[in-house]
Amino acid sequence: MSSVFDGICGFNNFSGNDFPGTVSAVLFYSNCNLRCPYCQNPDVVLGKIQAINCEKLDFFLKKRKNNIDGIVITGGEPTIHKNLPNLIEYIRKFNYKIKLDTNGLNSSALENCDVDYLALDIKTTPEKYARFLGSDLSESQIRENLLKSISFVKKNNGELRITVAPKIIEKEDFEEIAKFCDGTNVFLQKIRTKFEILDRNFFKNDVFCDENFIQEFKFYLEKFAKSVKIRDYGENSKVRVKKYD
Ligand code: SF4
Repeated sequence: MSSVFDGICGFNNFSGNDFPGTVSAVLFYSNCNLRCPYCQNPDVVLGKIQAINCEKLDFFLKKRKNNIDGIVITGGEPTIHKNLPNLIEYIRKFNYKIKLDTNGLNSSALENCDVDYLALDIKTTPEKYARFLGSDLSESQIRENLLKSISFVKKNNGELRITVAPKIIEKEDFEEIAKFCDGTNVFLQKIRTKFEILDRNFFKNDVFCDENFIQEFKFYLEKFAKSVKIRDYGENSKVRVKKYD
């Protein structure tokens, strides 16, 4: 039977730091429309993790195990899955708050996603999405889709997240990235490479985020954004993807 859980490949049953102010569980959709070299979930993005046991996941949601208040839907990229609005509607029935993580490239899908909190990753300038991140959209499509998705983030009082990584963000990119951040809450996070990432060779030996660089970027963005914070999960934290079975 086709299920509201189609495409879900992982599930963490407890998280205290994925949804601001909300103890939550995290659902991972497989596959993605990008190939960011620093991606921490290569198997998820490449669709190498099999679907999870839906009955057990359903049971967990209904029983509200671990006293969680929210569900984070992440990936991979959730918006490339057609059943996302159905999943959101289903989760709503149990009165969970819902957070959605997206890269914002599939903006039309967001129109049908009624969530409490939207977190959108801005990666770099539109031109570099095709050059470094594997997007098959044109530069103008990327710009247009990101701006539309950001309008949903503003309505929803959500956040923009920017991973600061060598080559992918350079000083000459600040101005163009800042245009996306106008009036938004921005979180900068450093590239983390301690664990497996999608393409370590992309960075060669240059895998660290320079502290002065991130501070300079923060200072620049503060002229445009509503707020800019540096979010430091620590190099040892890892986004865990577990099958629930
Ligand atoms: S970092 Fe996010 S957008 Fe990039 S490949 Fe991984 S899941 Fe996709």
